[in-house]
Amino acid sequence: CAKSGGGDRIVVASREFRSQLEQRRLLQRDLASAVARGEFQTVFQPIVEVGNLRAHGFETLLRWDHPDLGRLSPDFFIPLAEENGAIVEIGRFVLDRALSIAANWPDPLTVSVNVSALQLGDRAFVAHVRQSLLRHAVAPHRLILEITETVLIRNGNAKSVLDELRALGVGIALDDFGTGYASMGYLRQYRFDKIKIDKSFVSTMVDEGKSAAIVRAICGLARDISATVVAEGIETEELLALVGDAGCQLGQGYLFARPMSALQTTLFIERSGWGGVAAVPRPQLAA
Ligand code: C2E
Ligand code: MG
Ligand code: MG
Ligand code: MG
Repeated sequence: CAKSGGGDRIVVASREFRSQLEQRRLLQRDLASAVARGEFQTVFQPIVEVGNLRAHGFETLLRWDHPDLGRLSPDFFIPLAEENGAIVEIGRFVLDRALSIAANWPDPLTVSVNVSALQLGDRAFVAHVRQSLLRHAVAPHRLILEITETVLIRNGNAKSVLDELRALGVGIALDDFGTGYASMGYLRQYRFDKIKIDKSFVSTMVDEGKSAAIVRAICGLARDISATVVAEGIETEELLALVGDAGCQLGQGYLFARPMSALQTTLFIERSGWGGVAAVPRPQLAA
């Protein structure tokens, strides 16, 4: 009896597994036409100067409004899009949309865009970045491309592509710093304008003295190589104070704002007094 019960479980498990595979396959099919159907939305999250709480720029984050499944998270669908190559077209859409929105912001505000491995490996990538900047008349120094260690691992010629992008005047950020295996090695091989410390480090700073020490060390290192540190995942005033003490110049997190629509972004910039001297409005924790 116990035996047949176990057998049933195996059948159920394999059926679930099959339907999961099936669902992935269906989603990948949908992904291929989602750009054309206008199902992707870009949202923007402010990156704030820790010292005076002024907006420094915004990171562009992608959302997929699936007709049946509702709004899906990029952690879920980006890997699927990388697997079937749809990420190249999706990435072009994101860059183009981000620059079209950033073109309306006051000049010094930057716009960050996440780039995945397949995009960086695309031969037309640099040309596309140049054309998009020209089309939207955005100064290259206002664009920051965020790449992760995985992107570097998967691209043999990452160095030459990054050099070409730098020659355009575009900034490069190393994203999710501290979550990979060889982050230090990459700091030696490449030049980064920004280092983004992953929220898994930042969020444990309150309880773990070690995390705080690591963040402080990364900030010291970054200073020596002329990079700016962005602390991700700042959710509380306490964390804001801690990352400031550790020497992080920039911060990002729900304390300042959740990712928001282009329209909300404009209001956020107006409220933060760009053109004037006012700082980012005091955090609204309700969100
Ligand atoms: P990321 O580039 O490290 O982006 C930061 C993530 O942290 C975002 O999640 C953001 O919403 C979240 N976040 C920001 N502040 C806080 C906070 O205070 N607390 C917590 N718990 N989370 C916070 P999101 O939007 O779900 O994006 C997840 C990841 O998906 C991104 O991580 C990035 O790797 C990828 N992604 C998003 N948009 C794109 C895109 O257009 N292209 C590519 N290739 N990847 C993207
Ligand atoms: Mg990022
Ligand atoms: Mg990150
Ligand atoms: Mg991340």
